[in-house]
Amino acid sequence: MAFMIRWVYFVAVLAALAGCGPAPESFFVGNEMVGVPDRAGEGTRFPAKGLPELFSFVGEQAIGFYSEGSLVSPSAFPLEGEGFVKIQRPRNRSWGADELIGTMILAAREVARAYPVGERLQIADASAFSGGSLPGHASHQNGLDVDLVYYRQDHREQAADTSSGFEEDFVNTSTGAISPNFDLERNFALMRALVSSGWINRIFIDEALKAAFCRLSVAQDRFEEDTETLRRLRHWPKHGDHLHVRVKCPFTSPRCVAQDEPPPGPGC
Ligand SMILES: [Zn+2]
Repeated sequence: MAFMIRWVYFVAVLAALAGCGPAPESFFVGNEMVGVPDRAGEGTRFPAKGLPELFSFVGEQAIGFYSEGSLVSPSAFPLEGEGFVKIQRPRNRSWGADELIGTMILAAREVARAYPVGERLQIADASAFSGGSLPGHASHQNGLDVDLVYYRQDHREQAADTSSGFEEDFVNTSTGAISPNFDLERNFALMRALVSSGWINRIFIDEALKAAFCRLSVAQDRFEEDTETLRRLRHWPKHGDHLHVRVKCPFTSPRCVAQDEPPPGPGC
């Protein structure tokens, strides 16, 4: 099955690239990530966290800005792997840049190993095959944005094979109350894992959830070391039922238009 998925993907990529040079090398073999992209020129490597660095990066993927851009030579999120599952599959919005996909997979794995009991990280919309405007989203255009489902206390996963939206809103927008089903600790572990990659520009969440993470950090006596994580958690309306992760422009995508860094400080 995994082979078939990769095969279909490669055929799609080959078709898209016909006459435009070689197809990109794989970031994955089946659902196994076998390599990590190299930010050549910046002198830094994607933090591999124990993964073999076999990946030979193919070049440009993200073009333009998050809300006005496109995607070339896209990679696809695998349907599932250690600690994650792709949902809303029939939407065919599983395309993105390698840095986006790799960062999510590594963070999901890190959380799954720290919290072996629990549902997988549910990965929702990324981009369309060629990027561009995506109904229902203002951004998600250049392969560097993805929506994720918050971890739940009841560990339930929604069905992967439907296009329907997020099943649970964790914030009462009139009172700001957070559902007891919101797994605060595991979700904060995810935020920390994501930001520690160095690839995160911003993570959009509901403001009540941001405030709760600020309080948790203080309660755990980790406020100082959490500054960078908290700094990148940005209030955005309608993000009580999912979080939206935005990664930085890959160095190998020279036409990608960067977004300003968020202001310094935790913003609590
Ligand atoms: Zn989004």
